[in-house]
Amino acid sequence: MKNNKKIVFSVAYIFIGLFVLTLGYFSYYLIFRSKDVVNSTYNLRHDVLARRVKRGNIVSSDGVVLARTTTDQEDNEFREYPYDDMYAHVVGRVMRGRTGIEEVENITLLTSYSNSYDTIYNDLVGIKNPGNNVVSTLNHKLTKAAYDALGDDWGAVLVMEPQTGKVLAMVSKPGYNPNDIDENWERLSEDKDEESPLLNRASGGLYPPGSTFKVLTALAYMRENPNYLDYSYKCKGQTEYEGMTISCSNKKVHGNLNLKESFAKSCNTSFATIGSNIPVNNFRNLCESFFFNRALPARIINNPSSFELKAGDYSVKEAMQTAIGQGRTLLTPLHNAMIASAVANNGVMMKPYVIDRVESAGGKILKGYLPEEVANVMTSREADYLKSLMRAVVTEGTGKRLNNFNIKVAGKTGTAEQEGKNSHAWIIGFAPIHEPKIAISVIVENKGSGSEYAVPIAEKVFDAYFNK
Ligand SMILES: [Zn+2]
Repeated sequence: MKNNKKIVFSVAYIFIGLFVLTLGYFSYYLIFRSKDVVNSTYNLRHDVLARRVKRGNIVSSDGVVLARTTTDQEDNEFREYPYDDMYAHVVGRVMRGRTGIEEVENITLLTSYSNSYDTIYNDLVGIKNPGNNVVSTLNHKLTKAAYDALGDDWGAVLVMEPQTGKVLAMVSKPGYNPNDIDENWERLSEDKDEESPLLNRASGGLYPPGSTFKVLTALAYMRENPNYLDYSYKCKGQTEYEGMTISCSNKKVHGNLNLKESFAKSCNTSFATIGSNIPVNNFRNLCESFFFNRALPARIINNPSSFELKAGDYSVKEAMQTAIGQGRTLLTPLHNAMIASAVANNGVMMKPYVIDRVESAGGKILKGYLPEEVANVMTSREADYLKSLMRAVVTEGTGKRLNNFNIKVAGKTGTAEQEGKNSHAWIIGFAPIHEPKIAISVIVENKGSGSEYAVPIAEKVFDAYFNK
């Protein structure tokens, strides 16, 4: 009898001992080891975390849930994207290869910040801890306006704050619905007819800039010619050089023009002539200072832009084409938004980003991302003059539709011609002209002129922002 009691007590001690050890191990694990597991390149880390933590949410800056994890009655977890294809590229997915914010903040979403006793208790009884939430810079209202405005067309819309680099909207079409990507994977990955639904065109699509490039050509001209205010040119609708003809849109004869009028009316012959006179090395250096031919400084995965004109290896014809954004120059809508933003922000280019902060499930801010300057790409005086050129586009040029707002909008349209296909329609711009709040970059593929097809999209986005 006595012995039996002893055994019971011993067993109890062993259990208590084991329990204390377990607690100790979990505390040790939580405090010291979890970082090792997270930082280990061994790919099990994801599974280890996923077994203990219910993946956190990704939300918009205005509090709308863009990705969440739900559980069915059998305790199976599903990742849900309430807006289907609207955020597919920027928020990304966890199925069929993680992308977007889901990839960049994968470990954050699978890490739980909560009271450590709760965590230990949940671990012991097998309840998953809630993962941290990622709050993006994306604004749902603006994103929806951009998404709706692009309609069934292919292309991209990017909206950012020039003073901070925060991306407020990033839409790319055609897209895909991440909720049913498994069922459609074969079709999506097949990528026929250049549809590329998986590609984020806003940050990864490389396009000829068309006349939006005249912002940089004008700047190059200003730097070569301090008397640029005296510029004058007589447009006859087209110009020839060694058998190559450059025409103005619809062969329109613009007549006598100064630099501002050339820009506002997007006169190709005027700008092609400017291009033939800018020293190629200087033009190239200017473009490289704007991050052509090098990594684009953005906290967003992107494709780098290229400027091919090179001293000793170019023709005057190519220089003329390049000056009006045809040539071999390629850039992304993201990069073009950064150029417009730099003008808007008095010459200071900011690093674009889409993740604002990380919060615990209880709403405690754990980490915040701050705006970052990347370069002073022009003087504030140069920026002021370019602003006046871009304002003239709206008051008297190709962007007149944007002159119907109470606030003053500035912009530059572009029509990037392609052989055998309709042109890509572009606009970049910002508003209001003094202390700009948003900058925009829009491209519509294979559609026609910028003023006809891209400007109305910008109009709807500006309307959504300023007429709340
Ligand atoms: Zn002209």
